[in-house]
Amino acid sequence: MNSGSSSVKYQLLDMRDGARLAMGLVERIGERTSRLKHTPAGRESRERDEPIADHEAALKAVARELAADGLGLDSPELAAIGHRVVHGGRRFTEPTVIDEAVLAEIERLIPVAPLHNPANLTGIRTAHTLRPDLPQVAVFDTAFHTTMPESAARYAIDVETADAHRVRRYGFHGTSHAYVSRATAELLGRRPEDVNVIVLHLGNGASASAVRGGRCVDTSMGLTPLEGLVMGTRSGDMDPAVIFHLMRVGGMSADEIDTLLNKKSGLIGLCGDNDMREIRRRVDEGDERAALAFDIYIHRLKKYIGAYYAVLGRVDALAFTAGVGENASAVREAAVAGLEQLGLAVDSGLNAARGEGPRLISPAGARVAVAVVPTDEELEIATQTYALVAKNG
Ligand code: ADP
Repeated sequence: MNSGSSSVKYQLLDMRDGARLAMGLVERIGERTSRLKHTPAGRESRERDEPIADHEAALKAVARELAADGLGLDSPELAAIGHRVVHGGRRFTEPTVIDEAVLAEIERLIPVAPLHNPANLTGIRTAHTLRPDLPQVAVFDTAFHTTMPESAARYAIDVETADAHRVRRYGFHGTSHAYVSRATAELLGRRPEDVNVIVLHLGNGASASAVRGGRCVDTSMGLTPLEGLVMGTRSGDMDPAVIFHLMRVGGMSADEIDTLLNKKSGLIGLCGDNDMREIRRRVDEGDERAALAFDIYIHRLKKYIGAYYAVLGRVDALAFTAGVGENASAVREAAVAGLEQLGLAVDSGLNAARGEGPRLISPAGARVAVAVVPTDEELEIATQTYALVAKNG
């Protein structure tokens, strides 16, 4: 389960083979125009527009849909519920069975994840009321990044101030970076321990990570998901003094700047669109603002590829994933253009070809493999959850 403030995404997976039995999404919870979209495996989706007041009503509606397919939440075969939890701080380095103490710690982290952790908590509490007997497991977005060395995790600010307020780089999208870096090693026919990978998770939110032998050594998001790459609506890196300038000279409040940088910046701020398909269409029509937005996006991406190349020293693969990374061949081509000296290149035919699973797009014999590796955060959450529950008997 992936519970947002007004949405719940869910999947039911058969852990014998990882098969997806059903998936769905409840949107606009608490509004009059809520919508539930439920897709049983191999069958047509069912969409319903009905008012869904809160997360409990949402989960009950999901349970009803699952029951209609003979997959009710009351099934004795249901082994556990795995929850995506965005912020696990420094303490949660692994998936964790949820109890009162774990809930309290997730709650204690709300100041560093004010949008996400409260919604994640609501999802957990609600699932618990529906099946109090089931293990609920928290899988943290930050966990994969807890292996970052202090040199990468610490900001160069006063140590006492930073520690007093838990200011450090945590990183996000960890479930995806973990899954994709492993799947990339598999694609190369090698063990994750033997492979160094740069992962570019390019969705609406976007982050890069440097993974050495299966362990994250750096990632582009920081205290919050605002740092790093240019994203759909987030600025990513900039001089922090921009904020003081906007306060002092622009007369803006902290909340206004928060909204500006998180919701009205990045691609949407630069050109009015955050969907890469639309931006590419505009670029092809000669739209200059869209072209500049695309160039800024690519420039930042290149800087991170170069930075993580240097951090890793030796790179075996560069993996593109998430909505943009998996689909936008123009982004992949532009991001590695001119990096031949680093052993990086794409074969334009392979890059343009559509495909389903993980695939190589670098020319045969390339020094560094460039790959498209579709992410599957839900499968990863379920796999980690099931492994933990099975281990605990
Ligand atoms: P998130 O989970 O962060 O919301 P996704 O990983 O689903 O994001 O990515 C969503 C983004 O992927 C869209 O905003 C759009 O920019 C991009 N995208 C999706 N499909 C395509 C496509 N066919 N071509 C280019 N970009 C695409």
